[in-house]
Amino acid sequence: MKYEKMLENIYKIIPEKVKMKERFEMPEFSSFISGKQTIINNLADVAKQLRREPEHLMKFLMKELAVPGTVKGKKGILQGKFKPEVLNSRLGEYVKEFVLCHECGKHDTELITFEGARYKRCEVCGARSPVRSL
Ligand SMILES: [Zn+2]
Repeated sequence: MKYEKMLENIYKIIPEKVKMKERFEMPEFSSFISGKQTIINNLADVAKQLRREPEHLMKFLMKELAVPGTVKGKKGILQGKFKPEVLNSRLGEYVKEFVLCHECGKHDTELITFEGARYKRCEVCGARSPVRSL
């Protein structure tokens, strides 16, 4: 294969990958109320999409909603009755606080611990901002 042809093929592939990385779809909880508890069916899947630990996301919900809860397999269980819209609006706050970069708005970030403090670090622009520990 000629070198020019190879380059052409490479450039055909790259934009697709970039597009995929830039697209961010806000995940949604699927939940239902059972007795006095609220079961989030897809806690682990949502956390995975956000590249966060399910336990971290659960801790956030427990703190914001001021109720105890547990992670059980892929599910999250909250002690209390919460409507899906309440949970999803909290999820939006979580994403804003712990996932999206405060500088460039991208979601390609990771949580790191540096000198005992928690930071959100952006893989796109390199910005680092402190986040509260839950
Ligand atoms: Zn950034």
